[in-house]
Amino acid sequence: MQATARCGLRYFRGVDADKFRYLSGEEDLKTYRSSSDHERVFCGNCGSNILVSVDGYPDFLYLSMSAIEGNPAVPEAYHIFVGSKASWHEISDNLVQYDEDVPE
Ligand SMILES: [Zn+2]
Repeated sequence: MQATARCGLRYFRGVDADKFRYLSGEEDLKTYRSSSDHERVFCGNCGSNILVSVDGYPDFLYLSMSAIEGNPAVPEAYHIFVGSKASWHEISDNLVQYDEDVPE
């Protein structure tokens, strides 16, 4: 599955792990286990989100689109964890919304 998810105000795109590599700055990255099966990679200097990996899906990475240079094409997207979004955050598009994560 390749998909794009808008999580709160963050925008992630799924990519095949074997098609991803860092061009520079890898030595500055830090990791944080945000849940039992999610590990987040972020910049140790400025805190920017870089990607999320999920233990059960080692061939897949979710890249933070804010970390990508240029203007990459973005495939069809959806919203996740809408059930716990901030009340002041208004979703103004017609993309599919899930109260929690994408159903299996
Ligand atoms: Zn940084």
